[in-house]
Amino acid sequence: MATVNIAIIGAGVVGSEFIFQLANLKGYINYNVVVLAENKRVLRSEDYSPLKLSSWREDLAKSQKPGMTPKEIAEFLKGSKLPAILVDNTSNQAIANSYPLFIKAGISVATPNKKAFSSDIKLWNDIFDYAGKPGYGLCYHESSVGAGLPLISPLKEMIQTGDEVLKIEGIFSGTLSYIFNEFSAIKPSNVKFSDVVKVAKEKGYTEPDPRDDLNGLDVARKVTILARISGLPVESPAAFPVQSLIPKELESVSSGDEFLQRLPEFDDQMESLKAEAAKEGKVLRFIGSVDVPNKEASVKILKYDASHPFASLKGSDNVISIKTKRYTNPLIIQGAGAGAAVTAMGVLGDVIKIAQRV
Ligand code: NAD
Repeated sequence: MATVNIAIIGAGVVGSEFIFQLANLKGYINYNVVVLAENKRVLRSEDYSPLKLSSWREDLAKSQKPGMTPKEIAEFLKGSKLPAILVDNTSNQAIANSYPLFIKAGISVATPNKKAFSSDIKLWNDIFDYAGKPGYGLCYHESSVGAGLPLISPLKEMIQTGDEVLKIEGIFSGTLSYIFNEFSAIKPSNVKFSDVVKVAKEKGYTEPDPRDDLNGLDVARKVTILARISGLPVESPAAFPVQSLIPKELESVSSGDEFLQRLPEFDDQMESLKAEAAKEGKVLRFIGSVDVPNKEASVKILKYDASHPFASLKGSDNVISIKTKRYTNPLIIQGAGAGAAVTAMGVLGDVIKIAQRV
């Protein structure tokens, strides 16, 4: 039976579910976890025999071993003759910066962490100028956009087989999907924007400070990734217009709570946009888009007819529309774009694809 060594960094919401799904995987490949690193703690197999996944939480809590740097993890993995995969389940920039080190050492990377693919384009090039070439590791990141939705792998396959992307647009934030689906539904309502944001926070859909969702940066990072895959070498998420939903006056208030308290003062602005859309029989949605022929990317509020697939979205789903030379009627991909189970599934799917190729 073929065996791959795996180092996992990060065992939070997605990481712990990933370990659970991996431990229950059946198939013809042995997935041999030899490193499991959390903030400042690490479990490491000294002889490359598999760590016991059934008791990882207790074992990690008891571990006296200091954390390992990415360089130390790469060197440890290189010490075995078996192919190796780094699974980065953090959102850490420093770990993202180290992917070239792994890939150049022949170690593959699977990750839901957006940072490496949406920061400076130099890092992107330092990964994809090498990944997959003979002697180098592979790099898969399906869950970095739309969680486990089948988006990045199919998109890359379309392009590799000669299709050309014309336009990608979509709702890429579960939080902002929920907020706009509730605020601007097809059936008109008087619900206030600030009330919807408050409820989203209470339901645990937002970051602890909702401004981290409303500033549009998370969507801009996802747009950057899709633009680059589609052939637009976007420099960074700051290189195109991103509409922030944070009123200027509230950008610098000191806490998320103060922000929520004062947000009702600005409800009129969103209210008039909603009323204008409703007069045309439309709804508002927060959209990331990439227009390849015109070399444009953007993140902004747009209006959609009630009959459009984006208008009838429910809950916190993501939806992505891809128009290509072959798919002249856009391909629509819709479903949960966040959550431990579907995100970990995307990462594990990447690990399986890598293991089958190395
Ligand atoms: P989380 O905060 O629950 O988990 C991250 C874990 O990584 C934490 O346990 C943290 O201690 C650990 N960590 C951070 N820096 C580390 C370091 N240097 N060394 C070792 N461990 C470190 O976050 P999460 O929700 O599990 O998300 C993980 C990744 O998945 C993020 O990149 C996120 O953007 C992405 N993602 C998450 C979702 C989701 O629904 N949660 C959806 C899509 C993508």
